[in-house]
Amino acid sequence: MDLQALVDAASSRDWDTDPVGTVSYAVVGLGNYARNVSIPAIEAGDYGELGAVVSGHHEKASRVAEAHDAVALSYEQYAEGEATAAYDAVYIATPNRLHLDHIHTAADQQKAVICEKPLEATAERAEAAVEACETAGVTLMTAYRMQADPVIRALATYVSEGGIGEPTKALGEFTFPVLAGSKGADQWRLDAELAGGGALMDVGVYPLNTTRFLLGSEPIAVEGMASASEPFGDRPEDPECPQFADEHIHFHTEFPTGIVGDFTASFSGSAASWLEVVGTEGRFRVENAFAPGGERELTVETDSGRVELSGLGADETREEFDYFAHCLLTGTPPEPDGLDGLIDVEVMSAVYEAAQTGHRVDVGAGADGR
Ligand code: NDP
Repeated sequence: MDLQALVDAASSRDWDTDPVGTVSYAVVGLGNYARNVSIPAIEAGDYGELGAVVSGHHEKASRVAEAHDAVALSYEQYAEGEATAAYDAVYIATPNRLHLDHIHTAADQQKAVICEKPLEATAERAEAAVEACETAGVTLMTAYRMQADPVIRALATYVSEGGIGEPTKALGEFTFPVLAGSKGADQWRLDAELAGGGALMDVGVYPLNTTRFLLGSEPIAVEGMASASEPFGDRPEDPECPQFADEHIHFHTEFPTGIVGDFTASFSGSAASWLEVVGTEGRFRVENAFAPGGERELTVETDSGRVELSGLGADETREEFDYFAHCLLTGTPPEPDGLDGLIDVEVMSAVYEAAQTGHRVDVGAGADGR
């Protein structure tokens, strides 16, 4: 793939076979991302529509349902299987530690699931989510919107075709100042039990998962350093609960064939998101790499020159929901499946262990022979 082909690919879908039909969603949890990004993305897409909304707040649910001609349900009504005819698939957008119960309900109802990242708060619970869907025979996709982003997809092809030679390392950052929003310190993202951790689980997962996708490769070992100050909390003493609400995390990943990755994620500081991949014959850097809504800025440097491109891409959340619906309509397994989500939770748990012990920790096949 030459650079012009990369630019062309960065604004097109490489998966769309134009199937007939639509998928109707039940959206579980009407929080910020579901209401302001996901529901508009479903409605803007080619293959999705809203069938039901599930919320702990009746007035909010009724208002959103009425605006979209959908059914309003409480969590209890959803768990009891009310109005299942109104939707084909379930989108889960609650705090991380609550994903599994809603996945169990969907699996029991024989509904396909698209679940927000990270898949769950612990590796055990993420594994249970994968098993529940496998046992029920329903599709489970982890909502990794970057894997539906046309720029990131084009770059994955560029890497696999040797555009930068042999990859040698990846570098990245996602800083998201959570206290700058309206919720202040009183929010589940600072609750290590509900979130499964802190900055790593919430935003560190982006450079991790996107790098795994770009390289087509899995980490075999990690090291980590973490810190936290008030109100983010401190490391718990309980060894059974190694995760804590990290404010800053730096982690190093080793991939097979000597590729390394170095990433940082923070819950404080000036917002930033970027990713850089280096190879033997070139490198590229994506600025605004993980912000919702596309508009990536890309710099590619190879032996043949340097190119800067801006304004690339599309609304990757709309792309994500259309991709998921396309998978269901065509009987194709999604690429970011439940196992993809489980691997990240396992890697992030290993990073927390490494940060607590100060030791290098094996993951994946190196750790348990999988
Ligand atoms: P919010 O806090 O804005 O919303 C979460 C919603 O979950 C609440 O509004 C509430 O909905 C429901 N909920 C149920 N139980 C609880 C509880 N005990 N505490 C708090 N909320 C509860 O979170 P976000 O929308 O930002 O995040 C939701 C999920 O989406 C998370 O898994 C997060 O990681 C993921 N996310 C993904 C993004 C992406 O780019 N893909 C971006 C942002 C978040 P209700 O009142 O309707 O019951």
